[in-house]
Amino acid sequence: MDALRTVLTRLEKEGAALGHFNVADLVLLKAVVGAAADIKFPVFVGASEGERGFFGTRQLAVLVKSLREESGQPIFLNADHTHSLASAVEAVKAGFDAVVADFSALPFAENIARTKEAVETLKGINPSAFVEGEIGNIGTGSEIHESVQSASRILSTPEEARQFVAATGIDSLAPAVGNMHGMLESMVEGKTKKRLNIERIREIKKAAGIFLTLHGGSGTDDGDFRNAIGAGINIIHINTELRVAWRKSLEESLSRQPGEVVPYKILPPVIDAVKQVVSSRLKLFGGQSVGQSAAAR
Ligand SMILES: [Zn+2]
Repeated sequence: MDALRTVLTRLEKEGAALGHFNVADLVLLKAVVGAAADIKFPVFVGASEGERGFFGTRQLAVLVKSLREESGQPIFLNADHTHSLASAVEAVKAGFDAVVADFSALPFAENIARTKEAVETLKGINPSAFVEGEIGNIGTGSEIHESVQSASRILSTPEEARQFVAATGIDSLAPAVGNMHGMLESMVEGKTKKRLNIERIREIKKAAGIFLTLHGGSGTDDGDFRNAIGAGINIIHINTELRVAWRKSLEESLSRQPGEVVPYKILPPVIDAVKQVVSSRLKLFGGQSVGQSAAAR
């Protein structure tokens, strides 16, 4: 399997981005990997500290390794939003390919110091570990929110990006460019969409000169996604959309089979529903290169 950097560079040349999808259990993992395998396209599986706590850090790493070997697909594993060095180290030691070292809630200078320490420590354990840093505030919680958290309206600046990248040695930068964690009810209903500042992405890409990650992608306008990729976004995180599909389809499956107690009869429709969301996002982010993948790779 090609390294994550190699895949990201190739996708960038093709005008595509790598889809990142969070998993908290085997149902979600099967959906994410199944969708990628169907269209033979690389995928990034992510688990935050909360998701790893539920799944088991080492257990998730072993499952992904097994799925990767069996499918022959490029499946990368990311320790999403990691707020302590200890849990970042645990993930890299367990075999995770990448870590999001998220100290963005701290003052800028401290964010730099803690992120730099994480980069040095993690690459000391595994030189090919891919480390992402975060600047700005895009709100917390991949959930349904009642209102937009006001701090998430402030955009990261190119100068912050330049300084942060130069001082930390990160592989990818996650800025605040109009994106937001979680979704509003109106976004779940499809009545409103998140809008991104494409020009700011372009400026940050130029200043940072490295891979860029877009967090909080759920509920974003499709056209903005494509333009953001054109402006320099390499990785796109989707979590809430999967969670919404998971819950809705689980409720439907249970109400369709009121007397059923067999998990492997209740859960397959849930996997299918989440898989559909992942598949449509992978195709959107992959653009032209999705069709080519089977023949070229
Ligand atoms: Zn995120």
